[in-house]
Amino acid sequence: AQVPNIRLNSGVEIPQFGFGVFQIDPDGVGPALGAAFEAGYRHVDTAQMYRNETEVGKAIAASGLRRDEVFVTTKLDNDRHGHDEAVTALGESLDRLGLDHVDLFLIHWPRPSEDRYVETWKGFEQLAADGRARAIGVSNFQVPHLERLAAETGTVPAVNQIELHPHLPQEELRAYHREHGIATEAWSPIGQGGDLLSNERLVGLAEKYGKTPAQIVLRWHIELGNIVFPKSVTPSRISENIDVFDIELAPVDMATIGELDTGERMGPNPDDFG
Ligand code: NAD
Repeated sequence: AQVPNIRLNSGVEIPQFGFGVFQIDPDGVGPALGAAFEAGYRHVDTAQMYRNETEVGKAIAASGLRRDEVFVTTKLDNDRHGHDEAVTALGESLDRLGLDHVDLFLIHWPRPSEDRYVETWKGFEQLAADGRARAIGVSNFQVPHLERLAAETGTVPAVNQIELHPHLPQEELRAYHREHGIATEAWSPIGQGGDLLSNERLVGLAEKYGKTPAQIVLRWHIELGNIVFPKSVTPSRISENIDVFDIELAPVDMATIGELDTGERMGPNPDDFG
């Protein structure tokens, strides 16, 4: 696969297409990641909450790839907020992964009710300074949360990983990200494989381009500049999903997909989750 890199604001390069391992059982991680590496994936998105970092680390070791050939992201568990707690928690992730650094470490959820994400972020700044995380970012942050980090800390997050698919295109956050040099990562990029993929306009575009609806949606993300890491445990879908670098959607077709916006989330609202 000819996956382009995106340069993050810290200078670190991230492959625009990766593999997400949320809800993959520990036993399934090895085979799924094996198929993904075979298909050309070089970026893995996990989290402390997914409880599969040990198996992710083993699959990377088994791949025979060099450490600098695989981009590894993990995320801070919701109950580990706080400066020192975040630093300790990444150390535990590194032990489970069998690595001495991750490429990207994210605050998984802002948890505004607890109101500690600014302090947590200062712990992340320390982890970036000592090289245990090559880049640091956030996930599920809304504009006011990003504005607080900007006002009270010295580091702009490299990425914000948010729910984003044609039903929830997140125009406001994407505009904020563009303005402030934050890369957009899209979670549940194909709407968790649900109703979205049987939408008749997407089915029509799939026929037009000789692709599947999932590929059309993933290509839409790529052309918007989003970083994606769809999840699958099915080898044929794992290769299908990354096979989106031989088409280009016409502007009119990009616009058609943009019209599928319903504003409906599949996941929790970050303002009151955690
Ligand atoms: P997704 O949109 O990637 O959908 C995955 C599901 O779609 C699969 O379980 C499968 O049922 C189906 N599918 C996969 N390929 C398909 C294909 N080609 N055709 C038809 N159906 C297909 O949803 P996701 O797993 O929620 O999101 C992807 C990744 O995003 C996760 O693995 C995780 O890494 C990340 N994520 C992050 C957060 C967060 O809070 N930061 C939340 C959810 C997910």
